[in-house]
Amino acid sequence: MSEKTTGQPALPSRVGKVQKKNPASPAGLPAEDAYRGIGASRGIAIGTSYAFEKEQYDHEAKTLEPEEIDGEIERFVVALHRSEKELKKIERVTTRKLGKGYANLFEAQIMLLHDPVLTESISGRIREEQKTAALVIDEEFGRYLEQFRNSDDQYFQERACDFRDIKERIIRNLHIRKLHSWIPEGTIVISEHLSPADVILLSRSNVKGFVTDTGGQTSHISLICKSLNIPMVVGLGNFSQTVESGKQIIIDGTTGTVVINPSEKTIEHYNRKRDDELQSEADASLTAEQPAYTRCGVRISFYSNIDFKEELAAIKTTGSEGVGLFRTENLFIDGTKVPRESEQLNYYREMAETIAPMPLVVRLFDIGGDKLLYSPVREPNPNLGWRGIRILIDVPEILENQLRAVLRANTHGNIHILLPMITSIEQIRFIKERLEKLCNQITDETGLACEKPFVGAMIEVPAAVEIIEEITRCVDFVSIGTNDLTQYTIAVDRNNVIVQDLFDKFHPAIIRQLYRVISTAQKNRCPASICGDMASDRLTLPFLIGCGLRKFSVVSADIAKLKKMVSSITLAETELLAGECLELASAEKIKSRLENFLATL
Ligand code: PEP
Ligand code: MG
Repeated sequence: MSEKTTGQPALPSRVGKVQKKNPASPAGLPAEDAYRGIGASRGIAIGTSYAFEKEQYDHEAKTLEPEEIDGEIERFVVALHRSEKELKKIERVTTRKLGKGYANLFEAQIMLLHDPVLTESISGRIREEQKTAALVIDEEFGRYLEQFRNSDDQYFQERACDFRDIKERIIRNLHIRKLHSWIPEGTIVISEHLSPADVILLSRSNVKGFVTDTGGQTSHISLICKSLNIPMVVGLGNFSQTVESGKQIIIDGTTGTVVINPSEKTIEHYNRKRDDELQSEADASLTAEQPAYTRCGVRISFYSNIDFKEELAAIKTTGSEGVGLFRTENLFIDGTKVPRESEQLNYYREMAETIAPMPLVVRLFDIGGDKLLYSPVREPNPNLGWRGIRILIDVPEILENQLRAVLRANTHGNIHILLPMITSIEQIRFIKERLEKLCNQITDETGLACEKPFVGAMIEVPAAVEIIEEITRCVDFVSIGTNDLTQYTIAVDRNNVIVQDLFDKFHPAIIRQLYRVISTAQKNRCPASICGDMASDRLTLPFLIGCGLRKFSVVSADIAKLKKMVSSITLAETELLAGECLELASAEKIKSRLENFLATL
């Protein structure tokens, strides 16, 4: 096997690291190469690579003759119309495949095509500077792209992706070239970068999997692949430059592994793993709709984490008992406007009615940080900056609009409120006071008694764990966010590929905090649940049950397999397991203990 570096010069040991797998390849066969990136959408795909490259156009740097200017502006306007037509088509395909929530991504791009600041500036410059449309478009978009690209903020990276996609689309349409979205059926697509539109369009050719050099676990393309059930590995450095079309390739979207020229043995291994995964999913779905009990009869409940209302349909079929986390910041999907109270009211009301009497836990906007940009200033450490509850407290219009929408939508009494990024009791009191005031206001306005929903706190910052005694006496429930709790406890940015190997949920600091939160909540009779990605992991599930946890909120697709696992364990053995893990001082030992336990089932 050959050694390859795939990351930028300073990062090869962490990014796109190559692991030796099959150094002694049989004579005549190409050597097997294994790469590691970030698993962005689970599942195994085995097939043939297809190197997807977008067409590049050279921009003529010629000066236009005065009589050519009107024609050039006309070409630009036609290119805008053609781009809009394409985007509307992609929007329709997306609505059909994934629902309106995802389709809004493209609506935002269409809006940008109509942005007078941008379009007038481009037409103005063509006229004044006598430059070609392609050159001016490249320069105008280039200015934004430069700023976005230099940012390590996920929001800006997504915007860069949008801008780049629109720029390339308009320039291609200037050349009256048709969109290149046809690819051979059933391949595994490799690309330096893919936009959400590329993923949607390419997926029509029954793509088995996607691999990209850029992107993170929570980027839009990865959310789309998860919803489409297509395995994806991202963040592989310059992988696309090293692999051409027609190679045999395996991708494992759970572990982030990519293998090129796999040996017979490796193919056999992954075929077996894929069959096992599919079989256990099929077995699990047979019993998914039944309530889950451990072998000794303890009831365990599973709820769904959702980003858009379109995902509610899956709730009824996957054995979910309601929505344990609705990430409302997705209502800002175009990234610019705060949703109005009336828009939110309609959205929440429709959701609450659809699933009543099951609960709908509405988490107040967790904007800022690595999520949606809200701050008008560029923050040096956004994850430690103006995020979640901090913005809600500082900007009353945002908080009050959302609270009023929730209160008015709660006609079935099944909506609960969850507060993001809580670090103090004062923050909880602030929201509760506001809620009380708005509730009275709505009662006065409507003449009908407005019922206050339950209020819960996300436990996702170590400060909240430290004051968990007080928090659990002040709220109606707590929900543990292990994604952020891991980030803030180990001081590892959850979206930074350079340190992804340090983002370790088995770290004893996390394991012990989980026990502390769950046991304190139990003592104070405060219902506790978990909604971070850890809740979906079959390795950690027995530990969490052993700590006393009974409620899990996960992506709906994972519920069946987790319920199946619950039915094979007893409380006594999970308690023993939890006790042992709490004594261990290293993540490696904890993980290995959990693996041993799983192997006995
Ligand atoms: C978490 O932090 O674990 C969580 C569930 O919230 P989010 O991933 O939306 O930050
Ligand atoms: Mg969080």
